[in-house]
Amino acid sequence: MTEDKKMSCYWWYEAPPRPAPRASWASATDVAIIGCGFTGLSAALTLARAGREVVILEKNLIGEGASTRNGGITSGNIRLSSRQLARRFGPERAQTFIDESVAARADLERFIEENKINCDYQPVGRIVGLMGSFSSQTMERDHNKFAERYNIEPRLISKSEMAEYTSSKKYEAGIHRPDIGGIHPAKLLHEMARLAIDAGVKIYSKTAVTKIENHKTTFTLTTTQGKITAQHLISATNAYTDQAQPWLRRRLIPVISEMIATEKLGTNRVRALIPKLNMFGESKQLGHYYRPSPDGRRILLGGRRMHKQESFAKQRLHDGLTEIFPELKDTKIDSYWRGFVAFPFDQLPKLAVHKGIIYPSGFCGSGTVWARWLGQKAAFMILGEAAESAFKNLPMMTLPLYSGDPWFLPLAMSYFRLRDRLSVSTK
Ligand SMILES: Cc1cc2nc3c(=O)[nH]c(=O)nc-3n(C[C@H](O)[C@H](O)[C@H](O)COP(=O)(O)OP(=O)(O)OC[C@H]3O[C@@H](n4cnc5c(N)ncnc54)[C@H](O)[C@@H]3O)c2cc1C
Repeated sequence: MTEDKKMSCYWWYEAPPRPAPRASWASATDVAIIGCGFTGLSAALTLARAGREVVILEKNLIGEGASTRNGGITSGNIRLSSRQLARRFGPERAQTFIDESVAARADLERFIEENKINCDYQPVGRIVGLMGSFSSQTMERDHNKFAERYNIEPRLISKSEMAEYTSSKKYEAGIHRPDIGGIHPAKLLHEMARLAIDAGVKIYSKTAVTKIENHKTTFTLTTTQGKITAQHLISATNAYTDQAQPWLRRRLIPVISEMIATEKLGTNRVRALIPKLNMFGESKQLGHYYRPSPDGRRILLGGRRMHKQESFAKQRLHDGLTEIFPELKDTKIDSYWRGFVAFPFDQLPKLAVHKGIIYPSGFCGSGTVWARWLGQKAAFMILGEAAESAFKNLPMMTLPLYSGDPWFLPLAMSYFRLRDRLSVSTK
């Protein structure tokens, strides 16, 4: 494994990264996909089930990217609020983004059910803890509109009622979303790989793409195992995009996201902290997200890295946990791990095409839903099927002199931290 040996991803104990089954080298294929995370596997599975010949090229082992390191919360968030979207795109087009987030989340649930995927899916709902001031009237109005349109009922939970959901006193109130749940991300990923292989996809692990040549109707990829030509190419490398794809690297900001898992607390103690075993988020830009482990015995908590220093990262997350649950002050942390999430400059996921390459990318830390959905849409584009998406053909911006190393990130983090301190709670 290429990752820091000190890191111990909780999900990898049960479902560790693994090599692809041995397969003879294919020097030509209909579709080549770079990257074997949720995005690449979703595209591959859709294409192979439609009868296409598909090859996935993965630099590391299967399940070594962000897809198996994540919190497993099926949030499908869009970082811009509906008001921000409306200001940028007008109210009608703004609605299409929200429509798609609801459809994408439901599609993940359908996918898990239809394929009988054992990934500890728990449709337990997610609560966003609100801090600071907020307008309950505006929220109630927004929730009513949402319920009317989607038949899903978000609910404002008062401070006193919050005790039914959490022992934490940190929040002024909460928003409950019943359509968001939790999965075991590494189990989901390996199940998707199994389905893809069963459908005829060839996966080559430990095979890095080092060069992409774009001819008129084909692509030639140079890899560490040999060359391969393809009629179509999907890039599914996201936050792990390297020098082989300078165009994409210039358009994504890789941000460290990191997590801890507590020692075993036992089911009674976890239920005392989170009685209904919900997923949790916080209303701040740099807030934490947390959840019980699927077996209900531990708490897993994550957040964005705000400091450059690697040391104390685990301690900082533990401090965050203790701020929420002071009773966990002396609890040991069994696992700490980190990974990268990809942000486009405008903070909206993308289904972009550049020089014939399709780029489902930039999920802003909510790829459990978006990666699978937009990977599938990329496949539909090749199949000539309905690939409509609000995220298609949005411009992918960059900055002058930016080459993929986000030197400005500490400044941006300080800005968000300040905004959080001054913020009036919710969007
Ligand atoms: C700590 C953490 C917590 C998170 N929590 C959540 C959460 O709770 N909910 C949620 O929705 N999302 C969460 N996310 C985000 C989510 O995990 C990602 O958005 C999603 O997994 C992206 O999937 P992907 O397939 O696009 O990328 P990845 O899974 O990262 O796959 C990209 C792959 O491309 C490969 N690659 C790169 N370059 C090359 C090359 N040159 N040749 C061949 N292969 C290459 C990499 O090795 C990698 O395996 C979290 C992420 C992290 C890191």
